[in-house]
Amino acid sequence: MDLHVVDDELASCVGCGLCLPHCPTFRVTGEEALSPRGRIAAMRAVHWDGDPPDGSFVHFMETCVQCRGCEPACPSGVPFGRLMEGTRDTLARHHRMTPRWQRAAFWSLGHHALVLSGSSALAVAQRLHLVPRRLGLPPLPLRRPRLRGSGDDVWLFTGCVMDAWLRPTHAATLKVIEATGAGVRLPGHGADCCGALHTHAGLTRQARRLARRVMRAFPGDSPILVNSAGCGAALKDYGHLLGTAEASAFAARVLDIHEWLAERLDLLPPAPRRLAPVIVQDPCHLLHVQRSTTAVRAVLAHVADVVELDDDGLCCGAGGAYSALEPELAGAIRQRKLEAVARATARTGARVVASANPGCAIHLRAAGLIVRHPVNLLAQGISGEPTDQLAPALAADPAGF
Ligand code: SF4
Ligand code: SF4
Repeated sequence: MDLHVVDDELASCVGCGLCLPHCPTFRVTGEEALSPRGRIAAMRAVHWDGDPPDGSFVHFMETCVQCRGCEPACPSGVPFGRLMEGTRDTLARHHRMTPRWQRAAFWSLGHHALVLSGSSALAVAQRLHLVPRRLGLPPLPLRRPRLRGSGDDVWLFTGCVMDAWLRPTHAATLKVIEATGAGVRLPGHGADCCGALHTHAGLTRQARRLARRVMRAFPGDSPILVNSAGCGAALKDYGHLLGTAEASAFAARVLDIHEWLAERLDLLPPAPRRLAPVIVQDPCHLLHVQRSTTAVRAVLAHVADVVELDDDGLCCGAGGAYSALEPELAGAIRQRKLEAVARATARTGARVVASANPGCAIHLRAAGLIVRHPVNLLAQGISGEPTDQLAPALAADPAGF
């Protein structure tokens, strides 16, 4: 079966195994087939040798978190993410993965009014105890703050789930951008969803459709700021996804919010008093895909001392929809992150974890951690509010990520 991968890229793995310790699914299972090298071997068997893409093959591909932790570790520069995307696209086209109910759920993400009304209905159902806890949904907000544009220096990408579930983080983002003296423009119709989850699920045609709509929703040449690491990684990849000069030009305008803020920290007021130390968690789509790590730390350092984890940036297991689709593996992977956070807390006393990706935050909060977006901490720090008021505030406001 043609997996729609580039032969030279598939051939570039020399089998050295240096990526294995950086692969979360290999780390928790010890299975070669669930490592990058094992998955590449399986792809070669199907793509070159004509092996059938049977249930085992689909399992090896579906259990990949798509964290891309294997890429920076690879001395041969194997573009594993591209290989996985091509493979999943092929499997989805042949209806070997991403069943109809998942396709319907992903389709709905491209219709923001539906996402907002569905989220509100779920929030009510949660209050009535009608939503099974095993679904792993975070407590959803009944109300969302209204966002207002303030100028046209920069755009803010608001997205789908991030806007429906975690809009207070958008409000904090507007606040800190405006504190630098810049005005923010909000997108209108068409900017509903970046398509990241669709690409992960092999629904490349849907992802391309969404990408074209998103591009039309951000006219002009102002920077487009993104406060979700997963969405930012997807928007920065539009040049590859669509293969046009226009898409590449669009992608060049996209910045993770911390990249933009880190250049303007001197425009922000100092924190009247420093927040308690903050443990920084690197979302894979910032660390391995966008390869951006220093900006988050610079933003946090403006208001708090930054505490590092000692797990070498290993994935937390969230992986977009992965934590819902592969809950056992996602939980086992998360356990390692929880242990790393516990070691950091024992070492420094820090309890608050900063994460720049909503998926990671929701996954880690479901395990009992206090997780906040770095921009929320920055907004809190420059306003003078102390972090020791954080836990009760979060209990009262489930969307207060
Ligand atoms: S993307 Fe992540 S989970 Fe998948 S093979 Fe690479 S390191 Fe392992
Ligand atoms: S993907 Fe890279 S690091 Fe992993 S086995 Fe192949 S060549 Fe080695």
